[in-house]
Parts: sequence; C-alpha cells; structure tokens
Amino acid sequence: VESQVNPISSELGQPIGAVIVFHDVTELRRLERMRTEFVANVSHELRTPLTSIKGFVETLLDGAADDPSLRDRFLKIIQAETLRLQRLIEDLLTLAHIEGRENRVGVSSDKVSYAHKAYEKIKPVIDSFALAKGIKVEVDLADDLPPILIGEDLLSQLLLNLLENAVKYTTEGRVWLTARVDEEHIRLEFGDTGCGIPEETLSRIFERFYRVDKARSREQGGTGLGLSIVKHIVEGIGGEINVTSQMGVGTVFTCDLPRA
Ligand code: ADP
Repeated sequence: VESQVNPISSELGQPIGAVIVFHDVTELRRLERMRTEFVANVSHELRTPLTSIKGFVETLLDGAADDPSLRDRFLKIIQAETLRLQRLIEDLLTLAHIEGRENRVGVSSDKVSYAHKAYEKIKPVIDSFALAKGIKVEVDLADDLPPILIGEDLLSQLLLNLLENAVKYTTEGRVWLTARVDEEHIRLEFGDTGCGIPEETLSRIFERFYRVDKARSREQGGTGLGLSIVKHIVEGIGGEINVTSQMGVGTVFTCDLPRA
C-alpha cells in the first residue's frame, strides 16, 4: 500500500487535520515484477545462443577452420543457434503483435475464418515434421464446419503451435486434431500419445518461457513462448483453452472458439 498525506489548515493557517489517501498498488507492483522478469528472461534467452555463436566463430578463426570435420561441426552448431535466435525473435514479435491487438477494441472480432482452410496453410510444415519423426497425424476437419470468429493468420498460428508441440513431445504413436460444434462454439481438440505433462506443472505451461524440461524443449527447437501465444490468441477472441494430460500416455488440449 502507498499512502499520501494532505494536511488541512484552518482559515488562520492552523493545522486542524489531514486527509490520508491509501492506494492499493498490489496489481501495479505485480505487473512491474512481471515486466522485469520478462526482460530478464528475454535477455537470457538471447544471450545464450549469441555466446555460443561468438565462441564457435572465434574458435574457427583461431585455426579450427583448417580441420574440415571440426569446421563442419562448428558451422552446423552456429547454424542451429542462429535458427534458434530467429525463432525466438519471430515468437517475440508475434506475442507483441497479439498483445497490441488485444488493446484495440473490436479489431479481433471483425474477422472470420475456416478451420480446414487455416490448416491447409500449415499442413506442409506439420507433415514434414511428423514424417521426420515417424509420427502419424490424423486431422478430421469437415469442410462444412461453421466459420470461427478469428482472423485466418491467427487461427493458422494456433493450429501450428499446438500441432507442432504435439509432434515435438511425441516419440511414437499418433497426433490428432478433431472438431466438434455446439450452438456457440467450435471445439478443436489436439491430442497426442506423447510424454505427457506432470500434473503439478499444468497450471504453468502457458507462462512465457516456462518449460517442463528445458533441455528437451531446446533440443526440439522450442522457444518456450508457443503456448503463451496460443493462450493470448484464444482468450483474445473470447475463447477458452484447457489441457488434460497423463504422464507416458499423452496430452489433449481443447480450444473452445466462438462461432462467427
Ligand atoms: P516450447 O517452445 O518449449 O515447446 P511452449 O510454450 O510451446 O514452449 O510449451 C511449454 C512447455 O509445455 C513445453 O516446454 C513442454 O514442456 C510442455 N508441452 C507443451 N505441449 C506439450 C505436449 N503436447 N506434450 C507434452 N508437453 C508439452
């Protein structure tokens, strides 16, 4: 609590009392703390690949480039770290873009799109990723599903992030996407037979940069921002996202999105 004291004087200038105003700054402080934490996280996430790139470039310049096998190995690491930086920057820009959109009333509610069309856009990326991991992707989206109250780019981004995660955290079995319709919503269900998410971390996975297993996420090219982007998209259009998971069995995310 922050307080402010304003003395009150009589007409003759004698102090006769005071008005004390108390401000509840809990929310303000929480937002300040979140912002500081976010900046610290971003800096850390950017610095890690940069330090690695710098180190390998210096080692190459110091003579490692003369050994062809070392040179190739180091260049591949530099390439992977550069891609990681690129993904991180793209995700940060997407997040900033979506958050900016939320503040402009009405902007998100004037567009409609169709799930199967949005999926067609990202299908090649998901298919090649799944093929490389030997995982089957089953998508069941009827052409006559009613439209959803969301821009097509945002819907594609949502499908991409959730399906990419499903494939990323599954080593064998299958990944599926189905749709169900009720009077107000279209429910999209994203399922996988992957590693699962520990129950005690389920409430945290939508936080920016939160990962259950940091090493595994990094190894798979994750930025830790995918689910926070998804949550912003869903809630930005007045929808709801939920998750259930069982370790070693799989995970199901459901998104209830408003019908147009
Ligand atoms: P990341 O880039 O690390 O995948 P996300 O924000 O997309 O970041 O997800 C946050 C964390 O939630 C992941 O690091 C992972 O631990 C967990 N997670 C997300 N989706 C799944 C899934 N389908 N199966 C298991 N774990 C998942």
